[in-house]
Amino acid sequence: MTTPEEDEEGSGHARHTYRLRMSSTALATLLVEWDRCRWVWNQCVAESRAAHKAKQECGPAKLDKMLTGWRAGHEWLREGTSVPQQQIIRDFARSRAKALKDIKARLPIKQRAGMPRFKKKDLAAPTLNYTRRGFRLKNGRLHLAGGITLTVVWSRDLPADPSSVRVYRDSIGHWYASFVVPAETRPLPENGQAIGIDWGVKETATTTSDGHDLPHHQYGRKAADRLARYQRKMARRKPKRGQAASKGYRKAKRQAAKVYKKIARQRQDTARKWAKRVTADFDQIAVEDFRPKFLAKSTMARKAADAVISATKRELINMARKHGRDLRLVHPAHTTMDCGHCGARTKHALPLSERTYACTACGAISPRDKNSACVMLVRAGLIPAGVDRVRLDRSLNDRAA
Ligand SMILES: [Zn+2]
Repeated sequence: MTTPEEDEEGSGHARHTYRLRMSSTALATLLVEWDRCRWVWNQCVAESRAAHKAKQECGPAKLDKMLTGWRAGHEWLREGTSVPQQQIIRDFARSRAKALKDIKARLPIKQRAGMPRFKKKDLAAPTLNYTRRGFRLKNGRLHLAGGITLTVVWSRDLPADPSSVRVYRDSIGHWYASFVVPAETRPLPENGQAIGIDWGVKETATTTSDGHDLPHHQYGRKAADRLARYQRKMARRKPKRGQAASKGYRKAKRQAAKVYKKIARQRQDTARKWAKRVTADFDQIAVEDFRPKFLAKSTMARKAADAVISATKRELINMARKHGRDLRLVHPAHTTMDCGHCGARTKHALPLSERTYACTACGAISPRDKNSACVMLVRAGLIPAGVDRVRLDRSLNDRAA
Protein backbone atom coordinates (compact mmCIF):
# COMPACT_ATOMS: atom_id res chain seq x y z
CA MET A 1 0.00 0.00 0.00
CA THR A 2 1.19 3.48 -0.80
CA THR A 3 -0.25 6.54 0.81
CA PRO A 4 1.45 9.74 -0.21
CA GLU A 5 0.28 12.00 2.56
CA GLU A 6 1.90 15.22 3.61
CA ASP A 7 3.51 15.54 6.98
CA GLU A 8 2.17 18.95 7.82
CA GLU A 9 0.35 21.58 5.87
CA GLY A 10 2.91 23.54 3.91
CA SER A 11 5.92 21.34 4.70
CA GLY A 12 6.65 20.60 1.04
CA HIS A 13 7.32 16.97 1.87
CA ALA A 14 5.27 13.89 1.24
CA ARG A 15 5.28 10.48 2.88
CA HIS A 16 5.21 7.32 0.84
CA THR A 17 4.30 4.28 2.86
CA TYR A 18 4.92 0.62 2.00
CA ARG A 19 4.16 -2.66 3.73
CA LEU A 20 7.13 -4.53 5.17
CA ARG A 21 7.73 -8.26 5.19
CA MET A 22 9.46 -9.06 8.42
CA SER A 23 11.74 -12.02 9.11
CA SER A 24 11.61 -13.26 12.69
CA THR A 25 15.23 -12.17 13.26
CA ALA A 26 14.55 -8.66 11.97
CA LEU A 27 11.39 -8.47 14.06
CA ALA A 28 13.18 -9.49 17.26
CA THR A 29 16.01 -6.99 16.64
CA LEU A 30 13.58 -4.18 15.84
CA LEU A 31 11.58 -4.79 19.00
CA VAL A 32 14.75 -4.64 21.12
CA GLU A 33 15.70 -1.37 19.38
CA TRP A 34 12.20 -0.07 20.12
CA ASP A 35 12.56 -1.01 23.81
CA ARG A 36 15.69 1.12 24.02
CA CYS A 37 13.97 4.05 22.27
CA ARG A 38 10.98 3.72 24.57
CA TRP A 39 13.33 3.85 27.56
CA VAL A 40 14.92 7.05 26.17
CA TRP A 41 11.46 8.58 25.67
CA ASN A 42 10.43 7.72 29.23
CA GLN A 43 13.68 9.23 30.54
CA CYS A 44 12.80 12.42 28.62
CA VAL A 45 9.34 12.49 30.23
CA ALA A 46 10.86 12.09 33.71
CA GLU A 47 13.60 14.67 33.12
CA SER A 48 11.26 17.27 31.63
CA ARG A 49 8.81 16.85 34.52
CA ALA A 50 11.62 17.30 37.03
CA ALA A 51 12.91 20.34 35.12
CA HIS A 52 9.42 21.82 35.10
CA LYS A 53 9.17 21.45 38.89
CA ALA A 54 12.57 23.10 39.31
CA LYS A 55 11.49 25.81 36.84
CA GLN A 56 14.33 24.93 34.47
CA GLU A 57 14.45 24.63 30.71
CA CYS A 58 14.53 21.15 29.18
CA GLY A 59 15.09 21.59 25.47
CA PRO A 60 16.31 19.07 22.89
CA ALA A 61 19.94 20.26 23.25
CA LYS A 62 19.92 19.44 26.95
CA LEU A 63 18.24 16.07 26.34
CA ASP A 64 20.78 15.27 23.61
CA LYS A 65 23.56 15.84 26.10
CA MET A 66 21.75 13.61 28.58
CA LEU A 67 21.49 10.86 25.95
CA THR A 68 25.28 10.88 25.64
CA GLY A 69 25.45 10.38 29.41
CA TRP A 70 22.82 7.62 29.42
CA ARG A 71 24.62 5.78 26.65
CA ALA A 72 27.93 6.11 28.48
CA GLY A 73 26.35 4.72 31.64
CA HIS A 74 24.35 1.81 30.21
CA GLU A 75 26.00 -0.78 28.04
CA TRP A 76 22.68 -2.24 26.78
CA LEU A 77 21.63 1.21 25.59
CA ARG A 78 24.98 1.73 23.87
CA GLU A 79 24.46 -1.57 22.03
CA GLY A 80 21.55 0.04 20.24
CA THR A 81 21.91 2.37 17.27
CA SER A 82 22.15 6.04 18.18
CA VAL A 83 20.10 7.37 15.22
CA PRO A 84 16.60 6.25 16.35
CA GLN A 85 17.46 7.19 19.94
CA GLN A 86 18.36 10.73 18.87
CA GLN A 87 15.24 10.86 16.71
CA ILE A 88 12.94 9.92 19.56
CA ILE A 89 14.34 12.88 21.50
CA ARG A 90 13.38 15.08 18.50
CA ASP A 91 9.88 13.57 18.55
CA PHE A 92 9.59 14.11 22.27
CA ALA A 93 10.73 17.75 22.00
CA ARG A 94 8.28 18.39 19.15
CA SER A 95 5.39 16.83 21.01
CA ARG A 96 6.21 18.81 24.18
CA ALA A 97 6.59 22.08 22.24
CA LYS A 98 3.17 21.53 20.66
CA ALA A 99 1.53 20.95 24.05
CA LEU A 100 3.20 24.09 25.47
CA LYS A 101 2.09 26.12 22.46
CA ASP A 102 -1.53 25.03 22.91
CA ILE A 103 -1.42 25.95 26.61
CA LYS A 104 0.01 29.34 25.74
CA ALA A 105 -2.69 29.87 23.11
CA ARG A 106 -5.25 29.14 25.87
CA LEU A 107 -7.01 26.51 23.80
CA PRO A 108 -9.82 24.69 25.62
CA ILE A 109 -8.43 21.54 27.27
CA LYS A 110 -10.28 19.21 24.85
CA GLN A 111 -8.54 20.80 21.87
CA ARG A 112 -5.07 20.87 23.36
CA ALA A 113 -2.32 18.42 22.51
CA GLY A 114 -1.50 16.60 25.75
CA MET A 115 1.93 16.69 27.36
CA PRO A 116 4.01 13.66 26.31
CA ARG A 117 3.42 10.76 28.68
CA PHE A 118 5.23 7.57 29.58
CA LYS A 119 5.10 4.88 26.92
CA LYS A 120 4.08 1.58 28.46
CA LYS A 121 5.54 -1.66 27.22
CA ASP A 122 2.44 -3.36 25.85
CA LEU A 123 0.46 -0.27 24.94
CA ALA A 124 2.84 1.88 22.92
CA ALA A 125 3.04 0.92 19.25
CA PRO A 126 6.65 0.63 18.04
CA THR A 127 7.85 3.55 15.90
CA LEU A 128 11.47 4.02 14.89
CA ASN A 129 12.76 6.96 12.88
CA TYR A 130 15.96 6.92 10.87
CA THR A 131 17.55 9.92 9.21
CA ARG A 132 19.66 9.65 6.06
CA ARG A 133 22.75 8.37 7.87
CA GLY A 134 20.70 5.66 9.61
CA PHE A 135 19.45 3.72 6.58
CA ARG A 136 20.11 2.83 2.97
CA LEU A 137 18.24 1.17 0.14
CA LYS A 138 20.05 -1.54 -1.71
CA ASN A 139 18.65 -4.02 -4.22
CA GLY A 140 15.15 -3.11 -3.15
CA ARG A 141 15.78 -3.92 0.49
CA LEU A 142 15.82 -1.49 3.39
CA HIS A 143 18.97 -1.67 5.50
CA LEU A 144 18.76 0.02 8.89
CA ALA A 145 21.73 0.92 11.07
CA GLY A 146 22.38 -1.90 13.51
CA GLY A 147 22.36 -4.57 10.81
CA ILE A 148 18.60 -4.85 10.35
CA THR A 149 17.46 -5.80 6.83
CA LEU A 150 13.82 -5.46 5.83
CA THR A 151 11.94 -6.52 2.70
CA VAL A 152 9.79 -3.73 1.32
CA VAL A 153 6.69 -4.43 -0.75
CA TRP A 154 7.22 -1.84 -3.50
CA SER A 155 3.59 -1.36 -4.48
CA ARG A 156 4.65 1.78 -6.31
CA ASP A 157 7.96 3.45 -7.17
CA LEU A 158 9.49 5.92 -4.74
CA PRO A 159 9.42 9.17 -6.73
CA ALA A 160 12.65 10.57 -5.25
CA ASP A 161 15.52 9.89 -2.90
CA PRO A 162 14.08 9.73 0.65
CA SER A 163 15.52 11.95 3.39
CA SER A 164 14.25 9.80 6.25
CA VAL A 165 12.23 6.70 7.02
CA ARG A 166 9.86 5.75 9.81
CA VAL A 167 9.43 2.06 10.54
CA TYR A 168 6.28 1.35 12.52
CA ARG A 169 3.63 -1.18 13.46
CA ASP A 170 -0.02 -0.21 13.10
CA SER A 171 -2.96 -1.04 15.32
CA ILE A 172 -3.63 -4.35 13.57
CA GLY A 173 -0.06 -5.56 13.73
CA HIS A 174 1.14 -4.76 10.21
CA TRP A 175 4.58 -3.22 9.75
CA TYR A 176 5.25 -0.31 7.40
CA ALA A 177 8.13 1.81 6.19
CA SER A 178 7.15 5.41 5.56
CA PHE A 179 9.67 7.39 3.49
CA VAL A 180 9.85 11.18 3.44
CA VAL A 181 10.51 12.58 -0.04
CA PRO A 182 10.24 16.11 -1.47
CA ALA A 183 6.62 16.70 -2.54
CA GLU A 184 6.11 16.37 -6.29
CA THR A 185 4.97 19.42 -8.16
CA ARG A 186 3.24 19.19 -11.52
CA PRO A 187 1.72 22.58 -12.34
CA LEU A 188 -1.45 22.46 -14.44
CA PRO A 189 -2.29 25.11 -17.06
CA GLU A 190 -4.34 28.04 -15.78
CA ASN A 191 -8.01 28.15 -16.75
CA GLY A 192 -9.22 31.31 -14.98
CA GLN A 193 -11.89 29.46 -13.00
CA ALA A 194 -12.54 30.00 -9.28
CA ILE A 195 -14.51 27.88 -6.80
CA GLY A 196 -15.76 28.50 -3.25
CA ILE A 197 -16.08 25.53 -0.88
CA ASP A 198 -18.12 25.21 2.33
CA TRP A 199 -17.89 22.11 4.55
CA GLY A 200 -20.88 20.50 6.20
CA VAL A 201 -22.40 17.41 7.77
CA LYS A 202 -25.01 16.43 5.20
CA GLU A 203 -22.95 17.40 2.18
CA THR A 204 -19.26 17.07 2.94
CA ALA A 205 -18.59 19.93 0.51
CA THR A 206 -21.01 22.41 -0.98
CA THR A 207 -19.40 24.46 -3.72
CA THR A 208 -20.23 27.37 -5.98
CA SER A 209 -20.23 24.86 -8.86
CA ASP A 210 -23.17 22.42 -8.84
CA GLY A 211 -21.09 19.76 -10.55
CA HIS A 212 -18.50 19.70 -7.77
CA ASP A 213 -20.58 19.22 -4.61
CA LEU A 214 -19.46 16.23 -2.57
CA PRO A 215 -22.26 14.36 -0.76
CA HIS A 216 -21.44 12.82 2.60
CA HIS A 217 -20.39 9.27 1.85
CA GLN A 218 -21.80 6.65 4.20
CA TYR A 219 -19.04 4.08 3.52
CA GLY A 220 -21.50 1.27 3.81
CA ARG A 221 -23.82 1.10 6.78
CA LYS A 222 -22.45 -2.40 7.26
CA ALA A 223 -18.94 -1.23 8.14
CA ALA A 224 -20.29 1.47 10.43
CA ASP A 225 -22.59 -1.02 12.20
CA ARG A 226 -19.77 -3.49 12.63
CA LEU A 227 -17.52 -0.80 14.04
CA ALA A 228 -20.22 0.23 16.52
CA ARG A 229 -20.71 -3.41 17.53
CA TYR A 230 -16.99 -3.95 18.25
CA GLN A 231 -16.84 -0.68 20.13
CA ARG A 232 -19.76 -1.78 22.33
CA LYS A 233 -17.98 -5.08 22.95
CA MET A 234 -14.85 -3.18 23.96
CA ALA A 235 -16.84 -1.00 26.35
CA ARG A 236 -18.36 -4.12 27.98
CA ARG A 237 -15.01 -5.87 28.32
CA LYS A 238 -13.06 -2.79 29.31
CA PRO A 239 -10.45 -3.74 31.92
CA LYS A 240 -10.64 -2.11 35.35
CA ARG A 241 -7.93 0.37 36.26
CA GLY A 242 -4.67 -1.42 36.91
CA GLN A 243 -5.94 -4.73 35.52
CA ALA A 244 -4.62 -6.38 32.38
CA ALA A 245 -6.95 -6.37 29.36
CA SER A 246 -8.80 -9.65 28.79
CA LYS A 247 -8.37 -11.75 25.67
CA GLY A 248 -11.91 -10.82 24.58
CA TYR A 249 -11.21 -7.13 24.96
CA ARG A 250 -8.02 -7.33 22.93
CA LYS A 251 -9.84 -9.28 20.21
CA ALA A 252 -12.64 -6.72 19.96
CA LYS A 253 -10.05 -3.96 19.86
CA ARG A 254 -8.21 -5.63 16.98
CA GLN A 255 -11.46 -6.11 15.07
CA ALA A 256 -12.53 -2.51 15.61
CA ALA A 257 -9.13 -1.28 14.42
CA LYS A 258 -9.43 -3.39 11.28
CA VAL A 259 -12.87 -2.04 10.34
CA TYR A 260 -11.80 1.49 11.18
CA LYS A 261 -8.79 1.19 8.94
CA LYS A 262 -10.93 0.05 6.04
CA ILE A 263 -13.31 2.98 6.48
CA ALA A 264 -10.40 5.42 6.68
CA ARG A 265 -8.91 4.04 3.47
CA GLN A 266 -12.20 4.39 1.57
CA ARG A 267 -12.64 7.89 2.93
CA GLN A 268 -9.18 8.90 1.75
CA ASP A 269 -9.78 7.40 -1.66
CA THR A 270 -13.05 9.33 -2.17
CA ALA A 271 -11.41 12.53 -0.92
CA ARG A 272 -8.46 12.17 -3.25
CA LYS A 273 -10.58 11.60 -6.33
CA TRP A 274 -12.73 14.63 -5.56
CA ALA A 275 -9.69 16.83 -4.80
CA LYS A 276 -8.16 15.76 -8.09
CA ARG A 277 -11.26 16.83 -10.01
CA VAL A 278 -11.53 20.19 -8.22
CA THR A 279 -7.87 21.08 -8.79
CA ALA A 280 -8.10 20.05 -12.44
CA ASP A 281 -11.15 22.25 -13.08
CA PHE A 282 -10.32 25.37 -11.03
CA ASP A 283 -7.10 27.27 -10.52
CA GLN A 284 -8.36 29.48 -7.71
CA ILE A 285 -9.87 27.72 -4.72
CA ALA A 286 -11.40 29.40 -1.64
CA VAL A 287 -11.92 26.91 1.20
CA GLU A 288 -13.46 27.21 4.62
CA ASP A 289 -10.64 26.70 7.13
CA PHE A 290 -12.54 24.05 9.07
CA ARG A 291 -11.03 22.77 12.32
CA PRO A 292 -12.80 19.95 14.15
CA LYS A 293 -13.55 20.61 17.81
CA PHE A 294 -13.73 17.04 19.21
CA LEU A 295 -16.31 17.99 21.79
CA ALA A 296 -17.32 15.25 24.20
CA LYS A 297 -20.98 16.03 23.57
CA SER A 298 -20.63 15.70 19.77
CA THR A 299 -22.78 12.96 18.29
CA MET A 300 -21.18 9.98 16.52
CA ALA A 301 -22.52 11.32 13.21
CA ARG A 302 -20.90 14.69 13.84
CA LYS A 303 -17.58 13.05 14.74
CA ALA A 304 -17.68 10.91 11.60
CA ALA A 305 -18.52 13.97 9.47
CA ASP A 306 -15.66 15.92 11.06
CA ALA A 307 -13.23 13.14 10.26
CA VAL A 308 -14.39 13.07 6.63
CA ILE A 309 -14.09 16.86 6.32
CA SER A 310 -10.59 16.88 7.83
CA ALA A 311 -9.41 14.14 5.47
CA THR A 312 -10.98 15.84 2.45
CA LYS A 313 -9.55 19.25 3.31
CA ARG A 314 -6.09 17.74 3.73
CA GLU A 315 -6.28 16.00 0.35
CA LEU A 316 -7.42 19.20 -1.33
CA ILE A 317 -4.58 21.26 0.18
CA ASN A 318 -2.00 18.69 -0.90
CA MET A 319 -3.45 18.32 -4.37
CA ALA A 320 -3.59 22.11 -4.87
CA ARG A 321 0.04 22.46 -3.91
CA LYS A 322 1.07 19.61 -6.15
CA HIS A 323 -0.62 21.23 -9.15
CA GLY A 324 0.43 24.79 -8.38
CA ARG A 325 -3.13 25.99 -7.66
CA ASP A 326 -3.95 29.13 -5.68
CA LEU A 327 -5.75 27.79 -2.59
CA ARG A 328 -6.90 30.25 0.07
CA LEU A 329 -8.15 29.21 3.50
CA VAL A 330 -11.04 31.33 4.74
CA HIS A 331 -11.80 31.88 8.43
CA PRO A 332 -15.23 30.33 9.07
CA ALA A 333 -16.62 33.03 11.41
CA HIS A 334 -19.97 34.50 10.25
CA THR A 335 -19.92 32.70 6.91
CA THR A 336 -23.54 31.63 7.47
CA MET A 337 -24.59 35.18 8.36
CA ASP A 338 -23.09 37.03 5.40
CA CYS A 339 -24.73 37.40 2.02
CA GLY A 340 -22.55 35.99 -0.74
CA HIS A 341 -24.23 38.38 -3.13
CA CYS A 342 -23.94 41.83 -1.57
CA GLY A 343 -21.79 41.17 1.48
CA ALA A 344 -24.41 42.32 4.01
CA ARG A 345 -24.50 40.55 7.39
CA THR A 346 -27.74 39.45 9.02
CA LYS A 347 -28.23 40.41 12.66
CA HIS A 348 -28.81 36.85 13.86
CA ALA A 349 -27.21 33.56 12.92
CA LEU A 350 -29.51 31.38 10.83
CA PRO A 351 -30.89 28.47 12.82
CA LEU A 352 -29.56 25.16 11.45
CA SER A 353 -33.07 24.16 10.42
CA GLU A 354 -33.26 27.15 8.06
CA ARG A 355 -31.96 25.80 4.77
CA THR A 356 -32.44 28.97 2.70
CA TYR A 357 -30.59 32.24 2.97
CA ALA A 358 -32.73 35.25 2.15
CA CYS A 359 -30.89 38.57 2.18
CA THR A 360 -32.88 41.50 3.54
CA ALA A 361 -30.43 43.98 1.99
CA CYS A 362 -30.38 42.90 -1.66
CA GLY A 363 -33.19 40.35 -1.80
CA ALA A 364 -30.99 37.48 -3.00
CA ILE A 365 -32.33 34.05 -2.11
CA SER A 366 -30.13 30.98 -2.23
CA PRO A 367 -29.71 27.64 -0.47
CA ARG A 368 -27.90 28.23 2.79
CA ASP A 369 -24.76 26.21 2.01
CA LYS A 370 -24.50 27.60 -1.52
CA ASN A 371 -24.56 31.08 -0.03
CA SER A 372 -21.75 30.14 2.38
CA ALA A 373 -19.70 28.75 -0.52
CA CYS A 374 -20.14 32.10 -2.25
CA VAL A 375 -19.04 33.95 0.87
CA MET A 376 -15.79 31.92 0.73
CA LEU A 377 -15.06 33.25 -2.74
CA VAL A 378 -15.79 36.83 -1.71
CA ARG A 379 -13.79 36.56 1.52
CA ALA A 380 -10.80 35.09 -0.30
CA GLY A 381 -10.89 38.10 -2.60
CA LEU A 382 -11.49 35.92 -5.64
CA ILE A 383 -14.75 37.69 -6.52
CA PRO A 384 -15.44 41.15 -5.10
CA ALA A 385 -19.01 41.22 -3.74
CA GLY A 386 -21.49 42.55 -6.27
CA VAL A 387 -19.10 42.48 -9.22
CA ASP A 388 -18.87 39.99 -12.08
CA ARG A 389 -21.48 37.72 -10.57
CA VAL A 390 -23.65 36.96 -13.56
CA ARG A 391 -22.66 33.35 -14.05
CA LEU A 392 -22.78 32.47 -10.36
CA ASP A 393 -26.05 34.25 -9.71
CA ARG A 394 -27.75 32.30 -12.43
CA SER A 395 -26.69 28.95 -11.05
CA LEU A 396 -27.80 29.97 -7.55
CA ASN A 397 -31.17 31.31 -8.66
CA ASP A 398 -31.82 28.20 -10.68
CA ARG A 399 -31.36 26.10 -7.58
CA ALA A 400 -33.42 28.37 -5.39
CA ALA A 401 -36.29 28.38 -7.90
ZN1 LIG B 1 -27.44 40.45 -0.09
